[in-house]
Amino acid sequence: MENAALAAQFPIEQEVKRRRTFAIISHPDAGKTTLTEKLLMYGGAIRTAGTVKAKKSQQFATSDWMEVEKQRGISVASSVMQFEHEGCVINLLDTPGHKDFSEDTYRVLTAVDAALMVIDAAKGVEAQTIKLLEVCRQRKTPIITFINKMDREVREPLDVIDEIEQILGIACAPITWPVGMGKEFAGVFDLRRHHMLKFTPGDNTAHQAVEVLESVDDPYLTKNFPIAHATFKEELEIVQEVADPFNQEAFLAGDLSPVFFGSAINNFGVRDILEALTQWAPSPRPREAKETTVYPDGAQFSGIVFKIQANMNPQHRDRIAFLRICSGVYRQGLKVNHARSAKPIRLDHAITFMAQERAHLTTAYAGDIIGIPNHGKLRVGDVLSEGELLAMVGIPHFSPEIFKKARLNDPLRSKQLNKALKELGEEGTIQVFDPLEKTGMIMGAVGQLQFETVAHRLLTEYNIDATFESVSVHKALWVSSEDIHQLKRFTQASAERLAYDAAGALAFMPPTRAALDITIERWPELTFHTTREIS
Ligand code: GDP
Repeated sequence: MENAALAAQFPIEQEVKRRRTFAIISHPDAGKTTLTEKLLMYGGAIRTAGTVKAKKSQQFATSDWMEVEKQRGISVASSVMQFEHEGCVINLLDTPGHKDFSEDTYRVLTAVDAALMVIDAAKGVEAQTIKLLEVCRQRKTPIITFINKMDREVREPLDVIDEIEQILGIACAPITWPVGMGKEFAGVFDLRRHHMLKFTPGDNTAHQAVEVLESVDDPYLTKNFPIAHATFKEELEIVQEVADPFNQEAFLAGDLSPVFFGSAINNFGVRDILEALTQWAPSPRPREAKETTVYPDGAQFSGIVFKIQANMNPQHRDRIAFLRICSGVYRQGLKVNHARSAKPIRLDHAITFMAQERAHLTTAYAGDIIGIPNHGKLRVGDVLSEGELLAMVGIPHFSPEIFKKARLNDPLRSKQLNKALKELGEEGTIQVFDPLEKTGMIMGAVGQLQFETVAHRLLTEYNIDATFESVSVHKALWVSSEDIHQLKRFTQASAERLAYDAAGALAFMPPTRAALDITIERWPELTFHTTREIS
């Protein structure tokens, strides 16, 4: 009854429909921070450039209301940025890179409905982009591509497009096409509207008008940029002949990416991306739960925890669980059920990420992210829902790539170490593998930061002083097969390279890439998975 009243009070369908939740994926230095800043400027969330940069370098200290944020030295606020544009509520989720790269970076991608891929036009497709896009492809996340830094001497645009298609396995539909590059960068041609957008460097304001040239042969181009113009005309012919046209369905299926060229630092091309986001990117979509489908505009609230930000200060054990709302409305004081413990929880102090500053949240809708302070009760993959307990799938573990063993400085504490690692493994801080041959727990992570977090927490929360040593493992892949006999044979034959993870799932840990390839070839009846769903 109460829920029906709530739904009637708030036009939930409209609220859900106008939401766009996305993340930017890129390799470090491609321009993610710069672009984020420009996007926020369009949304009016910040007025001057440099704000996000300041946060990045940890100087941003105007908000002081959350201890966790101050202590940790990083801003919870910069993890999720919400702003409005053209009637849409846009949630931009940060994907930590550089030193902060961890499994959380991947998990963020499970909480978004679309992704913006930023490519440095001089460098093309780079390592971190490949990894992140792989996760998007698995989930069929729609991808918008921005090819950045056209104001520099970069690679041929056709080359870059070709590389994206070949390496990332996604078709590209150019929406704009550059005329020249570097000092000769004259602007981009809008392939839909058949006009030119003139590039003017150094623009830092959000709402400057981009000058439009109606003809591709405008004297401005032919006189000032004759070589760039001639090259562009040749390329245009090729593009019009061979490039995939934009197709909304293929985009939503994650098979085709609209591509824009520009220069984030000059705020050029940013508006086109926002237009694509608001017009093409999907609003929150239904989610599969066991035995039911969760519709975003359903009256009952539900959400899934995709990331835990632990406090690094030993005096404060509080942490923030980031929850993606999958359906319904959140209001302060909402009572929900916690599926894993089957216990009720009252959400009193959730935080939201409104435009300029955060406030204690009053209302949020499906598609939005809320941060729930807690003391370890919530874990990655946990589902909170009004009404019945929901088991939602969707936050997997990702194949780790860095492996270490903990060596105790006090060998008598090995029991405590195993218990601590098991707990941290269950929490999702790190992955823990127990070798079949009982040669000592192996920790696996996708980023170095995860080991630093574990070392810190072992010391401060468990009073365990340990040093970490590398182990020769190339990757951990989960193994399954419908053929039980083959699986058994494999388990016997490869016992020294097998381990159980925190949930008891079997993982294969080859020492080298070559060993992995040989094994895959030798055991065709087995499947080697790069992710494992948290159940
Ligand atoms: P991030 O590591 O992906 O967040 O990248 P940043 O936004 O910090 O950008 C990396 C560097 O590239 C910085 O020095 C930026 O000023 C620069 N940069 C970003 N966008 C552009 C652009 O459009 N043109 C040029 N020339 N430099 C850019």
